[in-house]
Amino acid sequence: MANLKFDTQKIKAGYDPLQNNLAISPPIYQTTAYDFKNTEHAQNLFTYKEAGFLYTRVGNPTVNFFSERVKALDGAKNAVAVGSGMAAISYTLLNLAAKGGTILASPYLYGGSIDAFDRLFPELGVTIKLTDAVLDSEKLEAEITDDVKAIYVESISNPNAYLLDIDAISEVAHKHGVPVVVDNTLATPYLYRPLEHGADIVVYSATKALTGHGNIIAGLILDNGDMSLYTKERYPQFYEPIVMLQGKSTADIFPDNFFIFRATLVYLNLLGAALSPQDAYLGIIGLETLSERVAKQTKNAEKLVKYLESSPAVEWVRHPSAKDYKFKALADKHLTNGGGGLLSFGIKGTPEQEETFINNIKLFHYHVNLGDARSLIVDSPNTTHSELTDEEKVLADIPSNLIRISAGLEDADDLIDDLEQAFKAAGLI
Ligand SMILES: *Cc1c(COP(=O)(O)O)cnc(C)c1O
Repeated sequence: MANLKFDTQKIKAGYDPLQNNLAISPPIYQTTAYDFKNTEHAQNLFTYKEAGFLYTRVGNPTVNFFSERVKALDGAKNAVAVGSGMAAISYTLLNLAAKGGTILASPYLYGGSIDAFDRLFPELGVTIKLTDAVLDSEKLEAEITDDVKAIYVESISNPNAYLLDIDAISEVAHKHGVPVVVDNTLATPYLYRPLEHGADIVVYSATKALTGHGNIIAGLILDNGDMSLYTKERYPQFYEPIVMLQGKSTADIFPDNFFIFRATLVYLNLLGAALSPQDAYLGIIGLETLSERVAKQTKNAEKLVKYLESSPAVEWVRHPSAKDYKFKALADKHLTNGGGGLLSFGIKGTPEQEETFINNIKLFHYHVNLGDARSLIVDSPNTTHSELTDEEKVLADIPSNLIRISAGLEDADDLIDDLEQAFKAAGLI
């Protein structure tokens, strides 16, 4: 399976009909728990001497089909699916900063991540420092102190389509023994595979383009299987004896997979944001068309960018295909399948005209999702990124006139007509 191409893997990886009564569509294991065959079997499962399923919060076959498939698409070694993108992010960072510490984070992030960093993590003894040094690896290196437990970035960021140089960031992080965590939600493995660029851990909101139909909330944590970065000095949590493991540590039990094992055993198990088998199934169906969807979304985004760049109602446009894109060289090198469906633009005119524009949109959906089959439009500074302080908005480069679009799968001409009539209604053209 490993030598098959991406588009074959997205249909086949992680699921074998031969093991499942020859069913071509993966069965939904709608079960809470799994019988023990006898007391020895129960003991073996509890002590991880034998692989198997116990209880759906910590493992389910349908959920595994889903995580195994994404694992193959990303070229990862280990994976776990969880109940949301936020659970994937929180569990990952808590697992790395279990004893407290600092996470250096990109300021170009999903609004909910920044909200968690400002409000939840400090309560748990974790400091998250947003720093634009992620744009300059020399500056970043100067910020990696002994207290730093991870560097956290988005590969393509929301809402400005910033593109970070994960190779450069990983190089300086590894010099100091610190892993790089990449939220690859916007890119999906179709556009970008962070582990091939030196990242150690990838997290997803599988709610978005990865599954792409606006019908589930789901998340994933993946890693590259290299546990050598997690030293006893910086990450003692992996080496502590655990009663339930009969005094062994997570590193003793799974020397090649203790990062995700501990994330599952401690955070998924005890905080409990499990993915349901039904939603995992919908996710698997979504993955089957990942390339086709993201390729069409990219095409539609490119047509919208051309239209917006020529419109007198628009101040600026941000997308990898835009004329004055900030990260052109990096995009040409790394985004060989295109720049994706996310774009943003600055609307000319007063805030009232912006409101009239939004209120006159008919075809685009006005809501907070991304990567859906339907095209979405949203005034990010007032909605998706309203949690950010004014300083955070400046740092994140989110001007107040920013409008975000997630291009869907419609005919681009209809989308352009919709924008045109709404600009007219607002008196902008
Ligand atoms: C939506 C999103 C999240 C959060 O994911 P949920 O599945 O909604 O919890 C995290 N990161 C990015 C980039 C997102 O777009």
